[in-house]
Amino acid sequence: MTKKLEVYNKKRNFDKTHEPRGRKEKSSRKFRFVVQHHIARKDHYDLRLEWDGVLKSWAVPKGPSYNSKDKRLAVMVEDHPISYRNFEGIIPKGEYGAGTVMLWDYGTWEVLDGKKPNFKKGIIKFKLYGKRLKGLWTLVLMDEDNWLLIKDKDEFHLYDNILEFNTSVKTGRTMAEITGEKTTIELTNSDKVIFKNPKVTKKDIFNYYEKVAKRMLPFIENRLISTIRLPDGVGGTPFYKKHFENLDGYLGVKKLRSSGDNRNDYYYIKDINGIMQEVQMNSYEFHIWGSKVDDVNHADILVFDLDPDENLSLSKLREGVKDLKKILDDYNLESFLKTSGGKGYHIVVPLRNKTTWKNARSIARNIAKLMEATWPDKYTSNMKKSKRKCKIFIDWVRNIKGATSVAPYSIRLRNKATISMPIKWSELDKISPDEITIEKAIQRLKRKDPWVNFFA
Ligand code: ATP
Ligand code: MN
Repeated sequence: MTKKLEVYNKKRNFDKTHEPRGRKEKSSRKFRFVVQHHIARKDHYDLRLEWDGVLKSWAVPKGPSYNSKDKRLAVMVEDHPISYRNFEGIIPKGEYGAGTVMLWDYGTWEVLDGKKPNFKKGIIKFKLYGKRLKGLWTLVLMDEDNWLLIKDKDEFHLYDNILEFNTSVKTGRTMAEITGEKTTIELTNSDKVIFKNPKVTKKDIFNYYEKVAKRMLPFIENRLISTIRLPDGVGGTPFYKKHFENLDGYLGVKKLRSSGDNRNDYYYIKDINGIMQEVQMNSYEFHIWGSKVDDVNHADILVFDLDPDENLSLSKLREGVKDLKKILDDYNLESFLKTSGGKGYHIVVPLRNKTTWKNARSIARNIAKLMEATWPDKYTSNMKKSKRKCKIFIDWVRNIKGATSVAPYSIRLRNKATISMPIKWSELDKISPDEITIEKAIQRLKRKDPWVNFFA
């Protein structure tokens, strides 16, 4: 009777996991199905079809797709009890499948033409009546346990970018919420040295971001980002992460058409867990878009990046910052100052009314051109290094769709761990661009927020 679920039961210790004990149940007249998003050792989606008193189960690494061209590998795994269809929660560390399970879709299904499906060989054509998955689908056996899950070209073909659904279909919770605030992020490799002199470990970086996260979050949340990963520390190869990877369960993903590269799955941070998760994944430097994820076609900030020629003095650089500030003041644009953590300063203007990228670009360009025209020996609006001799490049090109600038409070992965730090205007002459280190930044958190009016 429970023979079908023997493998399932053997793999689990029911004193430790909250998953249901496997008992064969009577199938209802309508067959049910469920898809669970399971972030475990590997991120995947579990497709489960009720049949003959159990849930026939497949692990689909990339998840289902409404595009018939996406033939998704679906690996058949052990039968699960029907009551498993309600399971959402945590499987404890050390247990089989340890991680987080989210109920991602549920509904009923039927075999096409009422034929009996053969789960040992061949092709199963079936219809799903789920909240998110609908229409005709096919499972094709390739070899052993390896099947392909393919969408048929029916009226639901290309229906949705379904992996954008990142909440529980039952509880509306995100992965982070299911996992719960406290047990979320586990730091691995914490002793890894990221900067040598002075020494900064992964744990130091994690601690820094934990402390600064609340201050930083408003500037980074719900904006598409790219990050720089440095798994082997300074001296190792940096990796630029611009796209969502299925394994990061705390991030939001946004599909955008027409990107330079073929991939269109951009991502964003939704909460503090997202920042911490990124750090756990060795992403230490954060770069943000100038728009929010819910409206990527309108800029809500302008960023001016002052890039001095190598030999330019710090006082000349500061003069440039003041000249630019004056112009912004004349335009009635309130602006905020931060160190880049590298060679320059950044001036950020929150737009009280967001504007099209075309407009944002032209405002920024006009300002750079004005500076160039007024002080031709001091500034250039041309990004070519050769035009920069003894001048400052007023980088206005940050203000186009898809361009990024380093996020306030981000660590910079230069020689030493410096911060792109928000400072007061009155501090411009006192603080150099690469002066604020992790310790100094943490100290400064005790003071009044220099950008307190940024969102006013
Ligand atoms: P510095 O003060 O040393 O110039 P910075 O952050 O201003 O530091 P820049 O090289 O001037 O560094 O670049 C400005 C911004 O443009 C960066 O913060 C980053 O967001 C973006 N950027 C720079 N290089 C790239 C790149 N290769 N790909 C994508 N974005 C980039
Ligand atoms: Mn710069």
